[in-house]
Amino acid sequence: MITDLKDPVKLARYPFLPEATEYIQREDVGVEEILRDDGFARAREFGFDRILSSIKNEPRMDFIDERTCFDVMIAYPISKLFVWYIGDNFLKKRHAIFEAKRAFQYLENEKSDDFVKEFSRKMGIEWENNEIDFVYYLKYAPNNYGPWKLTNSKLFNGRVEADKKKALRILQEAIRARVSEPIRIDEKTRDLLGNLDLSEIYSELSKRRIHRKKIEGISFPNFPPCMKHIISEIEANLNVSHMGRFAFTAFLNSIGMRSEEILKTLFPTPDFNEEVARYQVEHITGVTSGKKYSPPSCDTMKTYGLCFEPDNLCRRIKHPLNYYILKMNKNFNEQK
Ligand code: SF4
Repeated sequence: MITDLKDPVKLARYPFLPEATEYIQREDVGVEEILRDDGFARAREFGFDRILSSIKNEPRMDFIDERTCFDVMIAYPISKLFVWYIGDNFLKKRHAIFEAKRAFQYLENEKSDDFVKEFSRKMGIEWENNEIDFVYYLKYAPNNYGPWKLTNSKLFNGRVEADKKKALRILQEAIRARVSEPIRIDEKTRDLLGNLDLSEIYSELSKRRIHRKKIEGISFPNFPPCMKHIISEIEANLNVSHMGRFAFTAFLNSIGMRSEEILKTLFPTPDFNEEVARYQVEHITGVTSGKKYSPPSCDTMKTYGLCFEPDNLCRRIKHPLNYYILKMNKNFNEQK
C-alpha cells in the first residue's frame, strides 16, 4: 500500500492517479464551482499555467505544501478540461508530455525504490527485481532502437531487464498515455469554459505554428495524413522513429524543401543532435551522397507502422507524394 498517497501534498505530484480523483471527490466540489467561483481562481490560474508551460515545453516541478496542494491537484483536471475544450491535437500531445515529464521529475526525486514499485503497480505495470513484463516494455518503450531494442536487452521468462532509469522512462510513457485519454465535456461545462479568457493560450499556440507557414511553395495543409502525423509528433517533441525521419526528410526534399529548411523543421525532436541530423539529412537529400532518396511507398509506410489514419484520397494513391500532388492540383484547379 502506498500510504504516502493518502497525503495530499504527495498526491498533488501525481494528480492523474485514481487516488487524486477520489480525494477531490471527497472534498465535494463540482466542476461548476471550480470553473466559476472566486475561491478557485488560484487553481484555475495554476491550470492555465500548466497549459502555457506545456505549449512552451517547459516541464517543471511546483512547490507544493499544505496550503497549495489542493489547488495544484485540481489544476490538473482543470488543465485537461481546457485542453479538450480547445480540442487542438498539438496541444493535447504537448499537455500529455508536460504532465508525464513533470511526474517523471518527481519520481526521480523519490528516495524510496519501494515507492516507485508501488507507483508502477498503480499504473498497472509490475517493476520488480529490475525487470519489467515484456508486454509493457514493448508498449511503452520510447523507441525501438539502441538500448531500447528488445534484442539489446536481457529477456527471461517474459520479463525484460530494466533498471530504475529505464523503469522511470517507461512509466513516463505510461503516464503520457493515461493523460492522453479523452474526456467528454457536457454542454453546461462547455458554456462555463467559453466564459473564461483563454486568448493567451490561443496566441501561444499560433506562435508555435509559425514556422509551418514560412516556407515558400510548401503547402502543409495538403500533406498526406502520414506526414501530418509525423509533423505533429515533431512539434509535440515526441521521438520519431528512424524510418519516420527518413520518410519525412525524403518527402520534404521531394516537394522542394532544401536541407537547411528540413533541419529547421526537424529541430524540435528530443533526440536532435545537429551533427548527426545534418549528416542524415544531407545524405538523404543527395548533398553528400550524390543520390537523392525518394520517400517510401504507402505499402512500405504501412509495413513500418507509419501510415496514419488514411483518408478517402489515400484509397486512390499508392505513394504519399501522389497524395500531395493530387491535392495541390485540385486546389490549383479550384482557384482557377
Ligand atoms: S495511405 Fe499512403 S499517403 Fe495515405 S496516410 Fe497511408 S502512407 Fe500516407
